[in-house]
Amino acid sequence: DRLIERSKYYCKSEVLAQAQKEMVNYKSTGVSVMELSHRSSDFTKILTGAENNLRKLLNIPNNYKVIFLQGGGTGQFSALPLNLLALKPSMSADYVVTGSWSAKAAQEAAKYGKVNLVLPKTKKYTDIPDPSTWTLNPEASYLYYCANETIHGVEFQHIPEFCGVPLIADMSSNILTRDIDVSKFGAIFAGAQKNIGCAGVTLVIIREDLIGKALPICPIIFDFQVQVGNNSLYNTPPTYSIYIMGLVFEWILEQGGVAKMEEWAIKKSSAVYDVIDSSNGFYVCPLDKGCRSRMNIPFRIGSAQGDEALEKKFIQEAENAKLISLKGHRNVKRSVS
Ligand code: PLP
Repeated sequence: DRLIERSKYYCKSEVLAQAQKEMVNYKSTGVSVMELSHRSSDFTKILTGAENNLRKLLNIPNNYKVIFLQGGGTGQFSALPLNLLALKPSMSADYVVTGSWSAKAAQEAAKYGKVNLVLPKTKKYTDIPDPSTWTLNPEASYLYYCANETIHGVEFQHIPEFCGVPLIADMSSNILTRDIDVSKFGAIFAGAQKNIGCAGVTLVIIREDLIGKALPICPIIFDFQVQVGNNSLYNTPPTYSIYIMGLVFEWILEQGGVAKMEEWAIKKSSAVYDVIDSSNGFYVCPLDKGCRSRMNIPFRIGSAQGDEALEKKFIQEAENAKLISLKGHRNVKRSVS
């Protein structure tokens, strides 16, 4: 019951209702956003509006560019090494691997340069080792981390600020749910489909001075200089996904901005963690308390290894109570997001 009560904080249905209203006649244009040319003045207003609202929400400094691209989170963690490895002659980057997504990003970067894993290799992603133990390379072109590991539920509670090289963060699953100081980052990227809209668009926020060093093999649509120079319009952008994302930004601003999203994220996740922690080991969350995600909470039922029959029953009864898609990733099993 507590979970259902909390679900009232998840009210993006207002955005969907607005999209439905405007579906075939966007602002009296007589057409859908899907039919607008990406170079039309109506779409330019949508694109600029989305960027301006994102700038407001995150207080993005003027020396940062914002672009909206295709290719998803995977596209961006592939594009980043192609754009940034050549920032230093080392052609090397530091990767903090705390779960599947940062592991995949590191693997991708290793195709193009040298990757230094700053944490000891592990398959057990349940904590973030103390930063004093990280083996950082001061000559690295950048330091990469995933702010929230969507599969394993490891979330950084603080920005790793001590590094002297540009800090790059994958915020695909926690963007706009905690207040961040953008000026501490070289670049931030986030696929829209978790927190800010529907699949198809990925936002990139990048400090100006890091742009312009793409490797010659970088595909042109992933070259940040080309995309920044063309205001995300080098080729056709995912127009409808940008429109929906813009509506979500407006909605978040109306609710009270990132501070409100953070407050709700804390309330919602605490409701679940409270149940886990007071269940006398019936529900088991394997994560260190210091890195528990507010966005996605992996847990097992019955024991640390999980009782398959009980977990099946749980999923069924959750669905009956309209708590859907709780079945976690096959690597971790149960998860609430
Ligand atoms: N990074 C994180 C944190 C993710 O959660 C995901 C997808 O779930 C990705 C990257 C990959 O995103 P995409 O599926 O858009 O390539």
